[in-house]
Amino acid sequence: MATITLETLRKEYDRGRVVAVDDLSLEVDDGEFITVVGPSGCGKSTTLRMVAGLESPSDGTIRIGDEDVTEQSARTRDVAMVFQNYALYPHKTVMQNMAFGLRMSTDLSKDEREARVRETASMMGIEDLLDDKPDELSGGQKQRVALGRAIVREPDVFLFDEPLSNLDAKLRTTMRTEIQRLQNEFGITSLYVTHDQEEAMTMGDRIVILKDGKLQQVGRPKDVYENPANEFVGGFVGSPSMNFVDVTLDREGDSTVLVADDGPFSYELSDDFAAHLRDEISEPAVRVGIRPEDITTTTTTDDSKAIRTTVEVVEPIGSDNYLHLDVAPDFIARVDSGVEPSAGDSIRVTFDESDLHVFDKQTGESLLYRESKQTAAPVQ
Ligand code: ADP
Repeated sequence: MATITLETLRKEYDRGRVVAVDDLSLEVDDGEFITVVGPSGCGKSTTLRMVAGLESPSDGTIRIGDEDVTEQSARTRDVAMVFQNYALYPHKTVMQNMAFGLRMSTDLSKDEREARVRETASMMGIEDLLDDKPDELSGGQKQRVALGRAIVREPDVFLFDEPLSNLDAKLRTTMRTEIQRLQNEFGITSLYVTHDQEEAMTMGDRIVILKDGKLQQVGRPKDVYENPANEFVGGFVGSPSMNFVDVTLDREGDSTVLVADDGPFSYELSDDFAAHLRDEISEPAVRVGIRPEDITTTTTTDDSKAIRTTVEVVEPIGSDNYLHLDVAPDFIARVDSGVEPSAGDSIRVTFDESDLHVFDKQTGESLLYRESKQTAAPVQ
């Protein structure tokens, strides 16, 4: 087992015209499962491929445990990679596929290799597949074999590159749990790349969010969800996405109210919250974020914390309804399926002020972000 340390890791292509990974620093604890997520082209795969040794950095260092592996070839690094396309040898049986890596990386005898493959296969519940060839297997079985082939080597580090993208939704959920169980059982330090924020949130001990090659935030899924460092992270993590409204902090007599530049949003803050916010902001025009699931409908007659709005569309998803509201463009409230207004209805919605996120309109940085909560490594 091992830690992974990236120090200002950089990868440029095309003589510096493309910066795929922009001075990324990250420490992964021994046995930790880190998910790396971000939109297509944000540098996830390039990062992973540099850790694997398949791509050499333009600058920066990579350490596995205490060893600087930056200049080492892929072959000499003790990492195992699991890819989206399984990368199994079509003419070899499952046993031969799983044993192949062991032949390359250990001096075990054939019998010892086979014994180890059988042991791993039985722990993974794939011992019945050992004599099959890849084209006799389903997608899920192929990915289990690819995982087994990585596990049997007992590497220091697991690297996963979108391993579940080819599977259907139900199997993806099953495999997520299975990968987590195996990773937990073997305690192998893992970097797991995905473009799917839900996968990243449900699987990672910590989640790393990248955009344009730059680290946006690293933290436990719950902390990142509750306390996004910037507007991008707020919008990227969570489904449906966070709602954003441009507002101005207004004084109205004794009270402080957030009033939308456009549309019906108006919300009175408590004195404490208003004072706290005033301490953090340099100008009254800010962008607030509020998650769809933090919004509820209300029948209160007190308008100070309720927003009167028109329902544009009701989108039922089974357990909940998504209400598209005319508060701002793409503004959605996620409410219980029992709440069923019709399109065109006038309703009031509200939320708790502690669920408000406040961002700088120019930089997108969170104005209420507390860094200390984010950087703590998980307790093992
Ligand atoms: P992701 O995995 O997040 O989708 P990648 O790491 O594959 O992103 O790519 C990051 C950026 O680097 C993208 O803009 C991509 O076009 C660019 N890139 C990746 N590989 C190469 C390459 N071999 N040559 C030039 N540009 C590349």
